Amino acid sequence: MDQNNTPPEIFTGSFTQQEPIPEEGIDAAVAVMRTGRLHRYNVKGEEAGEVALLEQEFAVAMGVKYCLAVASGGYAMTTALRALGVKPGDRVLSNAFTLAPVPGAIAAVGAVPVFVGVTEALTIDLDDLEAKADQASVLLLSHMRGHICDMNRLMAICARHDVRVIEDCAHTMGARWRGRLSGTDGVIGCYSTQTYKHMNSGEGGFLITDDDQVMARAVMLSGSYMLYPRHLAAPPPDVFEAVKYDTPNISGRMDHLRAAILRPQLRLLDQKCKAWTERYRVVEDGLRHCPGLHLIPRPAEEEFVGSSFQFLLLDWAAPRVREVVSRCAARGVELKWFGAPEPAGFTSRYDSWRYAPSAPMPASDRILAGILDMRLPLTFSLEDCALLARIIRAEVSAVHQAA
Ligand SMILES: *Cc1c(COP(=O)(O)O)cnc(C)c1O
Repeated sequence: MDQNNTPPEIFTGSFTQQEPIPEEGIDAAVAVMRTGRLHRYNVKGEEAGEVALLEQEFAVAMGVKYCLAVASGGYAMTTALRALGVKPGDRVLSNAFTLAPVPGAIAAVGAVPVFVGVTEALTIDLDDLEAKADQASVLLLSHMRGHICDMNRLMAICARHDVRVIEDCAHTMGARWRGRLSGTDGVIGCYSTQTYKHMNSGEGGFLITDDDQVMARAVMLSGSYMLYPRHLAAPPPDVFEAVKYDTPNISGRMDHLRAAILRPQLRLLDQKCKAWTERYRVVEDGLRHCPGLHLIPRPAEEEFVGSSFQFLLLDWAAPRVREVVSRCAARGVELKWFGAPEPAGFTSRYDSWRYAPSAPMPASDRILAGILDMRLPLTFSLEDCALLARIIRAEVSAVHQAA
């Protein structure tokens, strides 16, 4: 306890409070509601509609040819798998450390995940990928919590083994590896615009690609009712001729209301990404050289978006990790322990997904058992972030010293 009776600092911010939707987006959404035309294909005359415009703008922002806006990030991933022809019973490589919608997307198409391990950098273990690459022809790569692996090496491994890559960029929208935007290395990039991601429409997502056939299939899959010529970021109608009769409609479109609130947010994306990373750096600086706590190294090639913060309590016994979590919680700091044996509120590790069989992965288990995670919403100030770091530092140190 505190010897000089100063009460311990308490954090009172909310870890789930986002910024409001920009006024411009609210006005645009109200205007859509006044027309009554909310369905993406319900447009009047030459009007393009909010959804087609958003797709065009997102494709330009990502520097790709095509974009499809959809109902969720999970839907973008299942559509990506289907568009690449993944069939029930096929095996799909994916991360042992990610969030539930990723293996869920693989399960949704009846395929079977082959989990690839995680390193201390919280990225996919490329040696393990190399060893398992012959077991599947598609990798659903999750840039979990915004940590980007050596994409040059990953793409080389996948090219050598004829593995096509789908990128889950739920946490890397706006991030880059060696200057290339995340989501543009693989055949398809998938994004989420769910409330806790980098753009917020409550629910929603995108799929991007430069591949004509893949995009035509994705548009058909999303439920285009043969109205694909109304898309502004899709291949020309003749490409659809080849796929339109044998691609099922599995509806998952985005509507004008969500697109209306996303368009102004896209214009703010770069600015917001910078603001997140500034917050991340303040927390990181505040936790340097804290005994027992491992910071995650961030390579110079990685221009990450620090919308959440992770650190490792590597090889700590479970009760001590729990003590850190509860002591921080008592001071208002919400840490998630991704390594908890029993998942609560979320699942993030391969052995929580019992519908997908997996062999134990001891090296990954060691990392997973030590991962702590904290959200950094943009409603936190830089001073808030410094306070968060002081509290975590004090509580980790206290538990570490007592051991
Ligand atoms: C949120 C998330 C998704 C997609 O989520 P939806 O809720 O379906 O939009 C995909 N991958 C990861 C790692 C996520 O956190």
